[in-house]
Parts: sequence; C-alpha cells; structure tokens
Amino acid sequence: MTNTTKLLFPAPRITTVPTTGDDLFPVRRIFCIGKNYADHIKEMGGALGETQSVFFMKPTDSVICPTAKAPNVAYPPATTDLHYEAEIVLALGSGGRNISEADAMNHVYGVALGCDMTRRDLQFVARDSGAPWDLAKAFDESAVMGSIKPGNDLPADLSFALSVNGEQRQQTTVGKMMLSAPAIIAKLSQFFELKAGDLVYTGTPEGVGPLVRGDEVEITGDGLPSLAFTVA
Ligand code: MN
Repeated sequence: MTNTTKLLFPAPRITTVPTTGDDLFPVRRIFCIGKNYADHIKEMGGALGETQSVFFMKPTDSVICPTAKAPNVAYPPATTDLHYEAEIVLALGSGGRNISEADAMNHVYGVALGCDMTRRDLQFVARDSGAPWDLAKAFDESAVMGSIKPGNDLPADLSFALSVNGEQRQQTTVGKMMLSAPAIIAKLSQFFELKAGDLVYTGTPEGVGPLVRGDEVEITGDGLPSLAFTVA
C-alpha cells in the first residue's frame, strides 16, 4: 500500500474555445441571461412591465465550436422544437465579486458570437410548471460558440444577425439589450465570484425559431468571427 492516490479514470478534457490568435480560451463556467431584448420578450408572450432578467447556466462541456471541417451540431434527443438563439458572448479574462459597471468591461478578455440552443417545448413545460430550465437549456452541444476576438470594445451600434439556409431570421444591435454587457457582469458578480474562463451569453433578440436536421445556420456580427454550423 503506497501513500499515493490516483484518479479513478482520466480527468475530463478541458473545454476550450479558439481565439482569432494562436491562443485557446479555457472555459470555466457558462452564464446566460434570458429576457434581455424587449422584442424577444414580446414574441415569447411576456409582459414587459413585469419582466425580470432571468439568469441560468449551461455545463462547461456543452460548448461546441463548429469549424468548416467539422460543422455539425447535434439535434438533441427529447425535443421536437429545437430553437436557435443568436447571442453576443463575453469571455472573461479576470473576475471578482461586486464588480462595478464602470469596471466591468475591464474583465472582458474578448467577445464572440454564440448560439444558445434551446428545447423550446421543454422550456414552455418548465415555464408553465415553475420548474428549472436545465432540460431546455443545458443539454449536450447546447452552447455553440464562434472564435473569440480579443478586446472589450462592444459599441451600441454593433450589429449581429442569424440566418437559416441563407434566409435572415434575427438581426439586432447590442444597444437594444435591456441589461447592457457591463450591467450583466456587475449583476452576476453580486451572486457569484466571477473568474477568468467564465463565458456570458447576453441574450437573444426577436426572431427565434425552430431548426430541423440539415439546416445550415450562420451568425455574423460587425468585426466578429462568423459562426456557421449544420444541424445534424
Ligand atoms: Mn438565450
């Protein structure tokens, strides 16, 4: 009997997201905000006056970074209503607690485009029964990510859009977020000690809709690496 201990099985692979340089961004946690664009709240049947921001999380290993050589994102089991949600994603290079809005963007290493894949049918079941959103939001390959562009510049007129099979379905600008990027970081840091490696999905605008196998999705944004994938 030796005094050494060993791992019972190989340690889980570290999840990484490519950057536009040679570096890989190691992912720690994935925070998401729901109900952050007024027109999306309306299309979901929500009332603006009573709306509170909703925060939820996805598991780190739900990240998938499609490439031209490996473009597939799996259609998940247990749904017949998979939806796309194009979003701006913040990649934190540092963190802290009780971060001020004025300081928040200093913690952003870079910005990417992402797609918050959603089992809309199960989200409505959860909504109507008061249950958590995990089954609707936190499944394998639900956090689709493009490459991260280093830098924390996120102007209000930065436009991003999503198309399915070449037809545009979503388009908005960052300035239409109800909680701005710095406000989201500040708010999250009141509940969690944010750390380097944390990702923040900042919410989706109106125009969400279903995907079927074979659909080709493309998300583009001003000055950001585009994200293209095929539902498989
Ligand atoms: Mn979303």
